[in-house]
Amino acid sequence: MYDVAVVGGGLVGSSFALSLIKQNPQLKIVLVEQRKPDFSTNQDGFDNKIYAISPHNLEMLMTLDIKPNTERFGTIQSMNVRGDRNSKIEFDSHDCNSRYLAKIIEYRNLQQSILAELEQFSQVEFVYGTLNEIWDNDSVILKGDDFFLQAKWLVAADGANSFVRRKFDFTVEQIPYYQSGVVANFKCEKPNLNVAHQWFTGDGILAYLPLPNNQISIVWSTDRVEELLALSNEEFAAQVANESNYELGQLEVITRPAAFPLRLNLVNDFVRGHIILIGDAAHTIHPLAGQGVNLGFGDAWELAKVLAHTNAQPDAATLSRFVALRLAEVRKMQMTCHMLHRLFHNRNQIVNLVRNFGLNLVNNLTLLKKMLIRSAMTY
Ligand SMILES: Cc1cc2nc3c(=O)[nH]c(=O)nc-3n(C[C@H](O)[C@H](O)[C@H](O)COP(=O)(O)OP(=O)(O)OC[C@H]3O[C@@H](n4cnc5c(N)ncnc54)[C@H](O)[C@@H]3O)c2cc1C
Repeated sequence: MYDVAVVGGGLVGSSFALSLIKQNPQLKIVLVEQRKPDFSTNQDGFDNKIYAISPHNLEMLMTLDIKPNTERFGTIQSMNVRGDRNSKIEFDSHDCNSRYLAKIIEYRNLQQSILAELEQFSQVEFVYGTLNEIWDNDSVILKGDDFFLQAKWLVAADGANSFVRRKFDFTVEQIPYYQSGVVANFKCEKPNLNVAHQWFTGDGILAYLPLPNNQISIVWSTDRVEELLALSNEEFAAQVANESNYELGQLEVITRPAAFPLRLNLVNDFVRGHIILIGDAAHTIHPLAGQGVNLGFGDAWELAKVLAHTNAQPDAATLSRFVALRLAEVRKMQMTCHMLHRLFHNRNQIVNLVRNFGLNLVNNLTLLKKMLIRSAMTY
């Protein structure tokens, strides 16, 4: 019997397993992932899944001895956010005594480095296949088409549509945004100078995230998905450049656009019996502040600590403390992003005036601005 079965080998599940085995090498762990990832094209072009990782989480990842290709990282040195009436807020890494605000990292680059380190541990087994049945009695039985496993604990990191969460009827409130996040990568006419830009345009949010060599990754939260995905590369690049008022000049598509539906998932509890939810299985968030996977890493570090220190035998009180701690962090960030989205998606003229006034006000209140940045960076 395994001590812990982790379902989902995405960034959260794999980093949780690695953190756990590093802290307690006595444990027996199995990682169940439906698809064996193919990293053979990692050096070609750029992945379309690219995330802003906070300094705190990158530091935590690097302490796990992972070796991602850092030359492919982008760096956010400063950030420039604009409202829809010439309002703006600007901040810089110096505002919070940090060398950078976030690193822009490809999913596959990071995942490859985490799995490579995890493979060094003989106590960790990998099973590739889809989990499609679970029973939880004194221990957990997991069944897939080609596997049958038994573990003391099942940690579900199987993403926003979590099979495990649905199977065990965790209560989840879902709030759709009726928008998708359109992502793509571009080569730019002008240098990005390690500045991230974000425009709240009233009917959408467009973000430019700096990549090396004057390239950028974009996330465009919009309801014009079908129309945008039907465009040719040239037409799409022209639309994005126009939306940003040609901030970095003309753009050239280097990674075709893809779209991910956006919704807020609020789960009230992360633990039921021997089942524990982490990452997107436990919570999703609007990507406007780039905090989704950062919150998932927070769950991973905290749960790994709890299971490692208790030899995978935590009592109910310890697990309740874990849930309370993570729920407080997650809710704070979910609500902040949700309110910001509601505020900037509102067409009322008075709300429009107030939000733009608010943005300028925060920009001028140096202390408040620093507090906000520091709190976002510690996730
Ligand atoms: C447009 C967009 C932009 C974003 N930008 C950012 C950003 O800049 N910064 C940030 O922090 N976050 C960002 N996010 C959020 C981020 O994508 C997620 O929070 C993160 O990927 C969640 O990781 P995870 O490991 O929990 O889930 P996932 O990445 O979804 O991984 C789940 C894994 O479980 C596996 N799986 C699923 N079901 C089964 C099963 N039945 N059996 C076996 N395996 C299974 C899947 O194959 C997958 O590998 C963004 C999200 C979107 C939509």
